[in-house]
Amino acid sequence: MRVKLFEEHNCKKNVLSLFVITLLFCFVSGHLRVPEELSLFWPVNALIAGLMVRNPFLHRTRYYAACFAAMVFNDTVFSGWALPAFTLNIANILFILVAVSVLAKYFQPVSGSERITNALRIYPACLLAAFVCATWGALAQEGTFDAQLFTAWGDWLSEQFSTGSMLLPFLLTRDWQSTPLRNLLHISRLSPIFAVILSLIVGAMMGGAGSLTFPVPALIWCALVLPIPLTSLIILLTGITEIILVSHGVMNVQGAGNLLPLSPLTSARLGVATIAISPLIVAVSMDAIRQLNQRLALRANFDFLTQLLSRSGLYESLKEEYFTSRREMGVIMIDVDYFKTINDNFGHDAGDRVLEEMARRLQDVVGETGLICRFGGEEFVVILFDHNAQQLFDMAETLRQAIAKEKFWLQGNTLTVTASLGLALGSATDDRNWHSVAHRLISAADKNLYLSKRNGRNQTSPVNAQRAFTSDVA
Ligand code: GH3
Ligand code: MG
Ligand code: MG
Repeated sequence: MRVKLFEEHNCKKNVLSLFVITLLFCFVSGHLRVPEELSLFWPVNALIAGLMVRNPFLHRTRYYAACFAAMVFNDTVFSGWALPAFTLNIANILFILVAVSVLAKYFQPVSGSERITNALRIYPACLLAAFVCATWGALAQEGTFDAQLFTAWGDWLSEQFSTGSMLLPFLLTRDWQSTPLRNLLHISRLSPIFAVILSLIVGAMMGGAGSLTFPVPALIWCALVLPIPLTSLIILLTGITEIILVSHGVMNVQGAGNLLPLSPLTSARLGVATIAISPLIVAVSMDAIRQLNQRLALRANFDFLTQLLSRSGLYESLKEEYFTSRREMGVIMIDVDYFKTINDNFGHDAGDRVLEEMARRLQDVVGETGLICRFGGEEFVVILFDHNAQQLFDMAETLRQAIAKEKFWLQGNTLTVTASLGLALGSATDDRNWHSVAHRLISAADKNLYLSKRNGRNQTSPVNAQRAFTSDVA
């Protein structure tokens, strides 16, 4: 059963939940304190900020007051602080307020690509929030302007920024439910996690300036193969581990007294190498994604059987044509006659071979002068620019003859295939692009094609055939 901690219209419940959660985390975080110093981690601010961003109705004065009350309560009761409980906790509230104000509007349900850019907003938001928080916190802590103040400010800033940028991506990347656990328990998905652990161990053993960066390539590997929330969790755990290892002297970033007798320069060189490798891994994977996108676009724009343009490919190609309202577009619509009979008599595969051969013949005649598209099953559209009605008709007749004159070879038999054609010609009137001109003209050409069918097939109905036909009927 899922317990709902917050409800938009239940103020009392929200205040109580926030108070209890804040108090609980303050209490736990308080026990992570290093003597004489503030916390090693103070995750409370980022946690509350994460909760508020996910439940934006909590971004209200009364709820900030509830958090503040819990923080002050914790410090006065468990830490024995008096005035600092009030002044220092204002810094914590400032972090939450700034982070939530910047992030709240970006983390409502959004599409995948938006989610990526939004996730990147977490870092500047954390930096700004940490800056405001550190400035207030350091002043409240020291009270005087001196070198210690700057050290305190640095402590506050680095702790709040690092904790925020490790925790918030984990808290704000959604869709945990969409990744079943058993999918993760696969060797290809566990390998990058082992690589992170291994690089942490090697880093701890080696020490020195470069050791902190050792897990970076493994973390990027995680980012490439694991879902975002899990990657965020691994980044969080790696960061926490490194901070604990450094603070307890296990990972010696100064380079002295390492487990392995390596010089600080060796560590720095290895660190620089891992930094150099990391963007390259990203670049290679981005390139693979780009190529995949191109292949998908190509697949969508070309018909698999005939290699001619697909309908979407035709409209894409039209975007590259120079558009002016005076330029004329000619459309030839072609429909194979009695194609169903070919399928029925020789089979579907034979029908496919006829379509391939049709495409070849159309291609031979049209060449580079126009666009050829397989518009539907056995329907083709040819688009030509800057042709007058007579030129368009001549081209259509050449196409019709290219199909009808030479027999098609089918399973050792020869077969005469014919097609009916309908033409349309026009320029942009109210249209703003070739897409809508083509749409209009294809529909006009289709009507003329219908006339060719009615009049006995294997013929071309010219541009004005429809008008001539209606006046004949009248
Ligand atoms: P009409 O002269 O009136 O155009 O007659 P038709 O038989 O050509 O017209 P109809 O539209 O009734 O039949 C088109 C047929 O084309 C029906 C469908 O099974 C077939 N078809 C559509 N796509 C393909 C394809 O990719 N391969 C094959 N082999 N047949 C296809
Ligand atoms: Mg048809
Ligand atoms: Mg047909």
